[in-house]
Amino acid sequence: MTENISILGSTGSIGTQALSVCEKLGIKVSALTANGNVELMEQQVRKFKPKLAVMGTQEKAEDLKLRLSDTDTKVSFGIEGLCEAASINEADTVLTSVVGMVGLKPTLTAISAKKNIALANKETLVTGGSLVTKAARDNNVNIYPVDSEHSAIFQCLQGCPDKKMLNRLILTASGGPFFGKSYDDLKNVTVEQALNHPNWSMGAKITVDSASMMNKGLEVIEARWLFDVPVEKIDVVVHRESIVHSMIEYNDNSVIAQLGVPDMKIPIQYALTYPERFECEVGKLDLTKIAKLSFYEPDYETFKCLRACKKSMELGGTAPVLANGANEEAVRLFLERKISFTDIGDLVWDSMSAVNIKSIDSLQDVLDADAAAREFVRSSI
Ligand code: MG
Repeated sequence: MTENISILGSTGSIGTQALSVCEKLGIKVSALTANGNVELMEQQVRKFKPKLAVMGTQEKAEDLKLRLSDTDTKVSFGIEGLCEAASINEADTVLTSVVGMVGLKPTLTAISAKKNIALANKETLVTGGSLVTKAARDNNVNIYPVDSEHSAIFQCLQGCPDKKMLNRLILTASGGPFFGKSYDDLKNVTVEQALNHPNWSMGAKITVDSASMMNKGLEVIEARWLFDVPVEKIDVVVHRESIVHSMIEYNDNSVIAQLGVPDMKIPIQYALTYPERFECEVGKLDLTKIAKLSFYEPDYETFKCLRACKKSMELGGTAPVLANGANEEAVRLFLERKISFTDIGDLVWDSMSAVNIKSIDSLQDVLDADAAAREFVRSSI
């Protein structure tokens, strides 16, 4: 169980909920990082008294420093600050809940410093899965999933004596706000429509990823690395109610599922308290009130991002990095209303043929492929 934590991305949806779990369970906080929300960071520092607080830019850090001049908290910024927070002495666990592949380097730094990882930043495993899992093995550290689907699988796997007995992992997907629509229906959807998720309350990037089903594609890749299961053994099923968070199927066709109300506090808390469990401030699941759970085949034609992610794993090497980098850039442009919603899937798909796919031997290979994919997207519009 975690006793002292460093939280990368403390002002976001996962970070703020994680802090309330820490407060309730008495977990000490040694470092906090945020991209731009200085005001909330100041409040968090005053409440949790970390040794280190990190902002995305020097300007934001100067602002925070002024506000915190009466405290003992050191203020830093940028990727170096993130890496400092990731390797801070006091912490035994680093929660990575930053948005995007910027989380990769700090995660590798935390692993080298022998910190356990509570992973909420799926882009880290999507882009650097081979590097991160090897580093974790070499340094003997654990990676605990925070993503609800992966937490569900992790919970279902407790008591599994040997992964050879697994037939498949079954990831559930809510289907998002555009379930049942065709590709043509989605050409003119607005930013507001894409940000209107039926079941989960999340940040903008992941909400758009859920609407395009890129999120589920990223989660398939994340599951491949987290559980060391080949992609052919990972299925996706659309489950509209988001009550079954995911399932595993054994070789005797017995299926184990994890259920609960859709609330991230459960997976966040379990990642921090594993193998123990504690009371959690979430609603009880009343299946008689829900009455009906529905399941559907995903639509790989309409949701090109999901198809692209599966394809990227077949192609291997830097292909998933390209798909992810193209998506990060395309989502940014969509949120700025510069491209249409369906352009996201097209750009993600095309990035894997427009940019050369290479093997991944180092962090630099990942960073280069990511930059090339982003450049491809920028030059396409
Ligand atoms: Mg998820």
